[in-house]
Amino acid sequence: MDLVPQVDSIVEGIMGAVQSLAAQLEGPAPAARLDPRELERRCRDLGLAVGHELFVQLLRAYGDGRQGAATRCPCGGLRRYVGTRSRQVRDLMNRLLTLERAYYFCRTCGQGWLPLDEQLGPTGAQVTPALYEVALACRSTAPPDEAAELLSLVAGVELSAKSLERSTKAAGAAVDRALDRHAQALQADMSPETPVPAAAQRPYNLQLDGRMLRMRDGTFREVKVASLFDAHDLVEVHPERRELLRKHYEAHLGGPERLGRLAYRAARAYGVTGDGANALSQGDGAPWVWNLVQDHWPAALEVLDFYHLSEHLHACGQAVWGVGSERARQWAREVGEQTLASDATAVLHALDCLRPSGAGGQQAIAALRRYVQTHAHRMRYGALRAQGYAVASAGVESAHHGVVQRRLKRPGQRWSERGARQILAARRLWCNRHSPADVTSVANVRSLIGPAYRGRVAA
Ligand SMILES: [Zn+2]
Repeated sequence: MDLVPQVDSIVEGIMGAVQSLAAQLEGPAPAARLDPRELERRCRDLGLAVGHELFVQLLRAYGDGRQGAATRCPCGGLRRYVGTRSRQVRDLMNRLLTLERAYYFCRTCGQGWLPLDEQLGPTGAQVTPALYEVALACRSTAPPDEAAELLSLVAGVELSAKSLERSTKAAGAAVDRALDRHAQALQADMSPETPVPAAAQRPYNLQLDGRMLRMRDGTFREVKVASLFDAHDLVEVHPERRELLRKHYEAHLGGPERLGRLAYRAARAYGVTGDGANALSQGDGAPWVWNLVQDHWPAALEVLDFYHLSEHLHACGQAVWGVGSERARQWAREVGEQTLASDATAVLHALDCLRPSGAGGQQAIAALRRYVQTHAHRMRYGALRAQGYAVASAGVESAHHGVVQRRLKRPGQRWSERGARQILAARRLWCNRHSPADVTSVANVRSLIGPAYRGRVAA
């Protein structure tokens, strides 16, 4: 196919538009001229118009995807060519184009097949795959009305808030289904592994935490988040500033079981052994965190997140010396530093030295003592730090901020369970765009949603 002459004629047409724009600027007096911002926007639109024309012409190189009269279906049956199916879609240049696609149908399994969709990326929705990716990125970052405005302002693309919302929720639901499928397949295929030597390094960090989300009925429910990274990916980008190059997040609104399955799958994909012998796990004092770790990674090294301990120290100090007291702050800081250099005995010793007069102080001391005794084996901070291990779950803090807070905890937001789960899944997808362990991606999510013509009876 000779495409270049078509392109030449497009360029010629565009030159005409440029000349008429130039005439508007040269003719009138300076005060009557087009506002420079408006000029800039028009130039962009001109660029988009050229892009669209080129895209339509060059897309012809793909044909309609026809592959003979019949081909073998994955089910074993025969997919026969039925005819073409056209679909109008909006492209990244905010213009409509019509795609003619060869359509095949298999009578054995009742599934339709559009090879061109497979080649270009499915076009089941009313947008091209490239626009779909951009729209999904905007929508998982901002609420639908803001996302629609952003798309219009930044990319010149007009999509309604409603259609953005619909497609994002569909994407979220599809991602959730795919993740569950993968997690189940992994559990069904659990082969015993060669044990990792006891002295093995533990480069993998598994961090777990929960945060409350406000629901539509006024109640609060916990979003549980897992953050996973390889310590080798933590690099110094600046003196005293380290950055994590790659990480993986999982999130779930509800009980810990599903988060455990999802995190376990991701951990295996990352390189964590089946029992967690090459991993350490940081978490706060919540029992579900440690139950989950013991269920999935019994050989992982457990670490009580130092920041959570530090919060408990401050709360205890305030109960003894009063809220906002300098003495309390100093005590918590000193005991924290001592514990960081050693282990739980530093806190227990410091508590033994306290002689509070009030009942509140005594209760706080007893509570902290119980907390520290429960987690003493997770507080060997001195030894852990000497080996270069992280003792604070900063990763999961940023996970909460990135996956949950920025999208689901905006002022006044309240969620239905289903809506929150779908948006959480879409947000998780976006936040994992650089993850080496994701089975879903912004690019493949549409194929997860399923073929546009599934189950349709052949015409
Ligand atoms: Zn079939």
